[in-house]
Amino acid sequence: MRIRCPHCGERDHTEFTYGADATLQWPAADNTSHDAWMSYVYDRDNPRGPYWEFWQHSAGCHIWFKVLRDTLTHEIIDYATADQPVSHGLKADGSAAGGNGA
Ligand SMILES: [Zn+2]
Repeated sequence: MRIRCPHCGERDHTEFTYGADATLQWPAADNTSHDAWMSYVYDRDNPRGPYWEFWQHSAGCHIWFKVLRDTLTHEIIDYATADQPVSHGLKADGSAAGGNGA
């Protein structure tokens, strides 16, 4: 699998480290619900198809960014900056991601 770092260009995936689901939202800072924080920390989907993930170019420039990867084929469909809001199944511009999941 090849991943395109926004600074360094396309590199082998071994130079990158997976971070997390890129769509997770922290509970509000004043939310003291044990269940809300447990869910944030431990509950994860196991999707099939286009899925936004955080990746870091850990063996390069260390930048964090978002990758829309098809979890079935490993095809990389789109990229976004770390602070850009994204939704699973949609490209960064809001258009349908396609993919082979579903
Ligand atoms: Zn880089």
